[in-house]
Amino acid sequence: MTTPSRTAIIAGNWKMHYGPNEASQFALEIIPPLGKLTQEFARVVCVLSPPTISLEAVHEVMQALLFPRIALGAQNMFYADKGAFTGENSPSMVRELCSYVILGHSERRAYFCETDELVNKKVHAALANRLRPIVCVGEKLEEREAGQTEAVIRTQVYGSLGNLPAEHAHQVVIAYEPVWAIGTGKSATAQDAALVIGLIRQLFGEMYGTGAADACRILYGGSVTPANISEFVSLPDIDGALVGGASIKPDFVDILRKTIDVMKQQA
Ligand code: PEP
Repeated sequence: MTTPSRTAIIAGNWKMHYGPNEASQFALEIIPPLGKLTQEFARVVCVLSPPTISLEAVHEVMQALLFPRIALGAQNMFYADKGAFTGENSPSMVRELCSYVILGHSERRAYFCETDELVNKKVHAALANRLRPIVCVGEKLEEREAGQTEAVIRTQVYGSLGNLPAEHAHQVVIAYEPVWAIGTGKSATAQDAALVIGLIRQLFGEMYGTGAADACRILYGGSVTPANISEFVSLPDIDGALVGGASIKPDFVDILRKTIDVMKQQA
């Protein structure tokens, strides 16, 4: 992360952990140390993404503690404004509480059959509602072993991020999350991640121009821990991390602290 014009993002995906009571307790524990770190170093934003049912509880804690660079993100949303879509939440509903939304996570692609086409509709809806989408892309193990990583990433980037309004494209955040690295304890090497992230930036540039590609934040995700975060964020194209398992533990504070340490060394 060497580009001073891009603010880093350390985002925590709590997945299906912590209902409202536990989420509120954990938020009270973790937001003060995260908030203090972001107060001391302004070039990083920290996003917390609890389950939808716990968003309001975490939002209340955030309102009480008021750290401006701690943001709230949803883990999913639907693209329609309102209507007969039982169980779903619209972009404007999500926007009442959140400023970010994770879209196209590999678990949603795998278990809830989300396609690039559906993700693309959600990205459009997020941007139209002033939500910053964190759009996940990444290859499966068999695809990597078959030498298909580049083709898979190209298809996902073009499919999930196509035809966006040019004036909003730079607001998109992309998370490169190799599926085989998620929740497995087996992260990509920082060099491999940087190669794919370089490709994603190149593809985004082909689609929206170099200005948008330079501004777009691209994160790495997949078994990030306090022990390996520094390697990832030391590399110029990697603008932070999307963290799953380690984001529901105090480890998340260490991940943010180490990111800031690397950025300070590079300043
Ligand atoms: C994720 O859920 O986006 C993720 C990267 O999970 P983990 O950090 O647990 O691999």
